[in-house]
Amino acid sequence: MEGTCELCYRENVVLTKHHLLLRAEGGKEEHISYICEACHKHIHTLYTNRELAVGLNTIKDL
Ligand SMILES: [Zn+2]
Ligand SMILES: [Zn+2]
Repeated sequence: MEGTCELCYRENVVLTKHHLLLRAEGGKEEHISYICEACHKHIHTLYTNRELAVGLNTIKDL
């Protein structure tokens, strides 16, 4: 799937699904964001899943 990354706004990049809130934490469809692989790798390098779930569960917080 290609489109615009919700994080860096690059266009026509391959998008990966990022769960802003894990399913185990009550995450639903609206908690999924589509970001490019570079951003995805980046946020998972910077933050643990716990940190993402607690404080970074909206795209604007990232
Ligand atoms: Zn990106
Ligand atoms: Zn992710």
